[in-house]
Parts: sequence; structure tokens; C-alpha cells
Amino acid sequence: MKEVFDVIILGAGPAGCAAAIGLHGSGLKVALLDKSTFPRDKICGDAISPDVINQLGKLPIDLKEAFLGLEHTTVCNAVRFISADYSHADIKLYSEGISGYITPRLDFDAFMFAQAKRSDAVSPFLEVSVEHIACSKDEVEVKLKDGRTLHSHMILGADGAQSMVKRSLHQGEKPDRNHYCAGLRMYYEGVTGFSEDNAIELHFYKELLPGYFWIFPLPNGRANVGIGMLTSFIQKNRINLKQELLQIIKEHPNVADRFKDARPLENPQGFPLPLGSKKRRISGDRYLLLGDAASLINPLSGEGIANAVRSGRVAAEHLIEAFNKRRFDAAFNKKYDKEVYRRMWGELRLNYWVQRFMRNPSRSNWLVKHAITHPLVKELVMSGFDAKNIFKRATSR
Ligand SMILES: Cc1cc2nc3c(=O)[nH]c(=O)nc-3n(C[C@H](O)[C@H](O)[C@H](O)COP(=O)(O)OP(=O)(O)OC[C@H]3O[C@@H](n4cnc5c(N)ncnc54)[C@H](O)[C@@H]3O)c2cc1C
Repeated sequence: MKEVFDVIILGAGPAGCAAAIGLHGSGLKVALLDKSTFPRDKICGDAISPDVINQLGKLPIDLKEAFLGLEHTTVCNAVRFISADYSHADIKLYSEGISGYITPRLDFDAFMFAQAKRSDAVSPFLEVSVEHIACSKDEVEVKLKDGRTLHSHMILGADGAQSMVKRSLHQGEKPDRNHYCAGLRMYYEGVTGFSEDNAIELHFYKELLPGYFWIFPLPNGRANVGIGMLTSFIQKNRINLKQELLQIIKEHPNVADRFKDARPLENPQGFPLPLGSKKRRISGDRYLLLGDAASLINPLSGEGIANAVRSGRVAAEHLIEAFNKRRFDAAFNKKYDKEVYRRMWGELRLNYWVQRFMRNPSRSNWLVKHAITHPLVKELVMSGFDAKNIFKRATSR
């Protein structure tokens, strides 16, 4: 059976849903495909930065107020940086009426998908298994394993870190381990010792640099606990990340006590983080890559939801212009790359610089010590987190 659309979006995570919502009112016919159904889990730290809230308020269907009404959310008003010598710096996240949140992706992504279905542009296709994606001079063709075939003028690859759109259509880029991180998550209950303002905690211990251990408080006494480390470093030093994570929880002098009455709710769950620490080509003939498929994760904090939503917004704006001009070719789509990096590269580059600086334990100690007292250092450390600064910068992005 042949079905025809203007746009196919593969992946209904934050990037795909934001693009679908961005096309609300455009008059375009959009197929939104996902291999899962919602609610579904996604391995993540579950931190929703103030920048995500800012992005939700900029979509054609304003999602900010609806998000603030969600259950299963912790309001988080600070980020705590713990340095290699165990000293810490707390930096306020709450500013000008904006907070950060910690919301399990089970709930956040189901919320995004429910909102995307409200877009008049969208026809949802869930639990699909894609067999083949091909792109000719005249159209995109997506074959599903159940025998259906979808056709469109454009396809958006919003299908995450292991993007099939990227693998099928995007030639010539080899994965670069210096710009990838591996992450492990474990949900726990009964972890103690959180700050009163529900700070998300980033622990930069000597043995983990250039990576970190995190503990984020969730509602109902639960916590999201995890570890992230550069893939090149893991491979070079033959690190067993799962073992590192379990060892910190069990034995680390600055951590173990807080876990003595805690109970793991799952085994460590892993997933890659494609970091936005270098510029790449993120479009071609009849396709654009979004979110993790375009490697837009903040290389310091590991946060990628805000840029996933932002790239969805940029993609929707680009598509409206492309359909007006009937231009779907690689040369025209380069405008999308340019706009994505115009809005995101300044912050990604700055955060990459801080990430590289912090690879050395004494520098990481120095940064955390000066993060409270020195305005410039604070600006550097907090460039990925601070609500006030983000708000100032992000309102135009
Ligand atoms: C361990 C870890 C911790 C993280 N912590 C944070 C954090 O605390 N805060 C933060 O902001 N970011 C965090 N991130 C990054 C964040 O998870 C991603 O940047 C974000 O999910 C990107 O959104 P996306 O829509 O691009 O991709 P995804 O959220 O991965 O969504 C992709 C969608 O595509 C679907 N899909 C994939 N392949 C196919 C296919 N072949 N056919 C159909 N559908 C398909 C999937 O089912 C999924 O629904 C973390 C990542 C990891 C791995």
C-alpha cells in the first residue's frame, strides 16, 4: 500500500515531536513514525534544563504551561559541582521565574508525543519497523516491514544516536570516538543527602575525568544515578564503565554512605551520547538530521533535550521555506546546517573548551573553587546550566 506525505519524520522523541509541532498550521502533511509506543523509557539523566522550558514556550503550540502542570517532576533549583578533592560549588539555577526540572523520560516523552498529536499536520505511525529508506531525485521512499510504503518530498532524521536516516542517506562521516560519550543510568530508591533545593549533582572525581558521576533527585524518594565518560578514553584505558559505576556507589568515600540503605530499581542501562563538540554536515538531498542524529549534545553537561527541541524548531522553519520555494536539494538544505550552528555553536564550543580544561584534576578543583567567587569562572562553568544567562542568550534562539 502506497501512502504519500509532504514530510516523513523518523523518531518521535523531543526532536521529532518539536519538528511536528513546529509544522502545525503549515498546511503540510506530516507522517510521524516511531518504532516504540508511548509512554516508553529512554536512557537519560532526566534533567530538564531551563533552556528546555524556554524552547517549549517557543513552539507554535505553547507547551510551557502544560509542562509545568506535569506530575512526576522534581523542581530543581541548583546545580552542585563536586570537584576531584570533594569540595563543592552550588550554583543557583532558579532565576527570573525559571527553574530546572527532573522528569523521567517515560513521562516527558509521552507528554511531547501527546502534544505532537495535537498538531493539525501530523499522522502518527507507532511501533513501525522500517526496512529501507531510499532517496531519489524526485522523492523519499520509506518501506515498512509490514509491506506499507510511505513517500514524501523530505525526510527528517530525528531517530536518535543510532539514526537509521543517517546510516541510510548520509555518506562519508566516520564516528569519531573523541566526540562521543558513553552513559550508564540506574534508577534507585532511598538515596539520602540531597540538598534542600534539589540540586542536580555532578561529581568530577579524579578517576573519572574526563567523565563524571551524577545523582539527580526524583519524586517519591527515587533518584537517577549514572556515569558518563568519553568513548575514546574508555577504549584507550580499557575501562569497564559498569564496574566503575557500581564501585563508586559501593565504595567511594564521598558517596557510599548515601547509598547504604538504598535499593537499585534496575541494572545499569547504557546508551551513547553524540557530542556537539565539532561541526558536521547535518543535511543533504531531501533530508535533515535533528537532535542526537545531528550530534547536538552539550559536551560538558551531557544535556541534549534543549538542542533537540531547538533543532526541531529550526527544521520546521526551514521546511516551510523549502516547500514555498520547492527546493529540497543538498545545496538549499545547507541553510539548515548554517542556522542550527548559528544558534548553537557558540555555547557548544564554550562547553567543549570547559570540558577539555576539566580533564585535569587540579584544573577541575580550581574551576569548582572559583565557580562561586569569580564571575568569569562562574560564567564558564555555568554556561550550560545557569537559568539567567541561558535565558538572556536563549530568548533569541
Ligand atoms: C545516559 C544519558 C544521560 C543523559 N542525560 C541527559 C539529561 O539529563 N538531560 C538532557 O537534556 N539530555 C540528556 N541526555 C541526552 C538526551 O537523552 C538526548 O540528547 C535526547 O534524547 C535527544 O532527543 P532526540 O529526539 O534527538 O532523540 P531520542 O530521544 O533518542 O529519540 C529518538 C526517537 O527515535 C526513535 N527511533 C530510533 N530509531 C528508530 C527507527 N529505526 N525507526 C523508528 N523510530 C526510531 C526512538 O524510539 C526514539 O523515540 C542523556 C543521554 C544519555 C545517553
